Amino acid sequence: MDYDKRFGSHISIKNGLSSALETAEKLGFHSLQLFTKNATRWTGKDPEKKDIDRFITLASNGFFHIILAHASYLINPASANKDILEKSLNSLQDELNRCSIYHIPFYVIHPGSHMGEGEEKGLEKVVETFNNVRIPQDLTILLETTAGQGTNLGYRFEHLAFIIKNVEKQEHFAVCYDTCHTFAAGYDISNKSDFEKVFSNFDKIIGLSMIKAFHINDSKYPLNSKKDRHENPGKGYIGKDAFKLLVNFQPFSETPMLLETEKSEDYHEDIENIKFLQSLLKKNKK
Ligand SMILES: [Zn+2]
Repeated sequence: MDYDKRFGSHISIKNGLSSALETAEKLGFHSLQLFTKNATRWTGKDPEKKDIDRFITLASNGFFHIILAHASYLINPASANKDILEKSLNSLQDELNRCSIYHIPFYVIHPGSHMGEGEEKGLEKVVETFNNVRIPQDLTILLETTAGQGTNLGYRFEHLAFIIKNVEKQEHFAVCYDTCHTFAAGYDISNKSDFEKVFSNFDKIIGLSMIKAFHINDSKYPLNSKKDRHENPGKGYIGKDAFKLLVNFQPFSETPMLLETEKSEDYHEDIENIKFLQSLLKKNKK
């Protein structure tokens, strides 16, 4: 089965980063997302030369469309706690370096949580954190839209616009749009007229061309619930129509769309979900 080159999912790196590419290729996914190390740890073991070489060879074999890395969960670029902030900075730098070593072009990260300090202070802290790391030359950091749980930043398009406008290295920043998170944050794309409003709003505030990737998740909770719980596309509150509009929306005809939904070791849920997305493509589009 040859799926649309944009479609893929988050793939495990349990046998090294290169094994994620092998898995994706076996599944027929031309795009994928992976962690650069164990996502629940501050530090990871050094990458092995064998894994790096294998990764770079596979990544350039002509099969893959786009490969993205996702930041580990502990990193909080907005933290008001000195110790956490320092650990976040070190971990962030380490992961950016790993992207560079593996020639991964995109790194997705949540803007973080202000932990009660307030949104304005939190956003300023995020900018400061990004100004304090060395961003590899060919890497773009994708700020992910969030659901607005707790004190999370990034649930308004304006938050991401503020960060991008204020960082020193603007050319290294763009956006990863998570359909579940934005819906939970109150951006309704479940029908055509609201879909158009949301993306025209995004275009005004940040610019559609700044969306370099989608996390194509449905939501287990209703609009504006502020809850980050992913559902299989078409099976949640966002619904099939939204995904049909999205996969056929011309501005995103090259933009990777990655699943972050529950999966078993054999990825059969991902395969079903990607077949579903594939079925939504208009027939005349190859
Ligand atoms: Zn996501």
